Amino acid sequence: MKKIYLARDLSDAHLLKGFLEGDGIEAEVQGESLWKLRGEIPITEDTAPSVWVPDEDYDRAMELVETFHVGEASASVARKPWRCACGEENEGQFTECWNCGRSR
Ligand SMILES: [Zn+2]
Repeated sequence: MKKIYLARDLSDAHLLKGFLEGDGIEAEVQGESLWKLRGEIPITEDTAPSVWVPDEDYDRAMELVETFHVGEASASVARKPWRCACGEENEGQFTECWNCGRSR
């Protein structure tokens, strides 16, 4: 499984899951139980709900995520370029560094 999307909240995650399943991709939402503890623990990339897909569907799922616009906030966060630990700048739609393969 690969993580393709970090959601703002559970409904955001489930919307995308349904969207991917509509296209035949068996997506999975992770982090639901942690999300329900929000307020008690800080919200970070590790505690926000995320959407995962099977490795073989990853490329197709990423294209679908691109067309999936739920709120400009999460969309713009997802698209912001990011700098990898190896120093390379990556486009926001990539979750792994093109240079060294480290995940975002
Ligand atoms: Zn890198």
